[in-house]
Amino acid sequence: MQSIKNKRLIRTGSFIAGHWHNSDAALNVYNPATGQLLATVSNAGTEQAIVAVDKAYAAQKLWATRTAGERSELLMAWHDAILQNIDDLARILTLEQGKPLAQAKGEVAYGASYVKWFAEEALRVYGDTIPAPSGDKRIVVLKQPVGVVGAITPWNFPNAMMVRKAAAAMAAGCTFVVKPSEETPLSALAVAALAQQAGIPDGVLSVVVSEDAQGIGEVLTTHPHISKFSFTGSTGVGKKLLAQCANGVKRTSMELGGNAPFIVMEDADQAAALSGLMSAKFRNAGQTCVCPNRVFIHRSIYDNFADKLQNKLGTLTIGPGLNDEVDIGPLINEKATSKIKALVERSLAMGAKVLYTLSAPLDGCYYPPTIMVNVNNQMPIARTEIFGPVATLIPFDSEQEVVELANDTEYGLAAYLYTRDVGRIFRMSEALAFGMVAINEGVVSNAASPFGGVKASGHGREGSKYGLDDYLNIKSLCLGGIDA
Ligand code: ADP
Repeated sequence: MQSIKNKRLIRTGSFIAGHWHNSDAALNVYNPATGQLLATVSNAGTEQAIVAVDKAYAAQKLWATRTAGERSELLMAWHDAILQNIDDLARILTLEQGKPLAQAKGEVAYGASYVKWFAEEALRVYGDTIPAPSGDKRIVVLKQPVGVVGAITPWNFPNAMMVRKAAAAMAAGCTFVVKPSEETPLSALAVAALAQQAGIPDGVLSVVVSEDAQGIGEVLTTHPHISKFSFTGSTGVGKKLLAQCANGVKRTSMELGGNAPFIVMEDADQAAALSGLMSAKFRNAGQTCVCPNRVFIHRSIYDNFADKLQNKLGTLTIGPGLNDEVDIGPLINEKATSKIKALVERSLAMGAKVLYTLSAPLDGCYYPPTIMVNVNNQMPIARTEIFGPVATLIPFDSEQEVVELANDTEYGLAAYLYTRDVGRIFRMSEALAFGMVAINEGVVSNAASPFGGVKASGHGREGSKYGLDDYLNIKSLCLGGIDA
């Protein structure tokens, strides 16, 4: 952490309504590239989460009365502060999360693009007037902030996942209390420090860092002052949190697990497909919820494509993310590496084969990037979200077959399709049961495009012109007695 220039970004306590809260209880944050202790952060309890929610409730009344223009300007100031500190924020991110520094910078810029997007969208919360059923009536629709938003965010994008939820909520006139992952709290605290510097009023944004995920989760899903809960994480935890929200009938946004198919048709531009697969599969060491989990390749090009993939993977460097030449960093912790090892071993026992492995450093939480062949859609490696640098190649013979295979999963977040046939693009995109389809493109997400899933991948959309709706209530006014 000595290399961080702006020391004000290094925070070791929760940020609750404008105050940095320190306590004796400690939570250790480790660098996954070395296994060494990186920082010790105060471990907040549920009482701090309750204070944060109560303060957010009081602050929301005032925040909602600020004009959209004022909220927009404050968000733009936050955006500018994030970009001015991009090098330090990226370094903090790499140190606690492991991804290569260039990707960490990409994440900070990506998160900031949502702040800018929602600063602009804040100005465009339009209502409606609707033709009334009789001449003496008028119908007017208002959009109002839902109130206090509770959120829980994951460790794989510790900066951007927090920032894109917070920006949308704040733009809509909501206040926001977030619990970041206990694995990676430093990035969320650093952007909170910048929000304070940018002049975001106390209580509008609070960050509660705690090892007691369950206890804080309980507060953020059941406290009577919470109107809405937004979660990004695993489907298993998401289901529990959704059930907790049911009792208070809270609004929810759930961005959960994925099992993305990456489909390469026989008419695809193979070079483009290969480069799209490399970036989508191995970015963040495969720890993204939109990561291709099953690579379906038309049988007529299967062997050739597998060879090219192997050659390409052989050119990558794996190691600590702070080294400039590194393409793939460590996984988040030992639990992640053992989970993948077990998935691979169980699938090998069912007939899968390893085509290629790139050797990885022995120290730190690394998993060797691997290509597996002879995989079928029923094997554990194809049914479970891998969340690591293992590419599983599955052959297919027809358009209809691959759509059925791709849809044969409980998940429905992202899908990738490579083909040059326009009819096929529409037929297949419409038939794929996923919230997002990337066509001839390896990057599915940007601030202008709605991000979110269907089925067990969740509901709600982040970013885009739809993103604010998740934080707004519709109120209809029915006026009578208009006729003279
Ligand atoms: P992953 O398996 O990728 O770590 P999780 O869903 O376990 O994903 O974690 C995502 C976020 O959910 C983290 O902030 C974590 O602390 C939080 N979390 C995990 N379990 C619970 C729980 N029972 N209640 C509330 N939050 C939880």
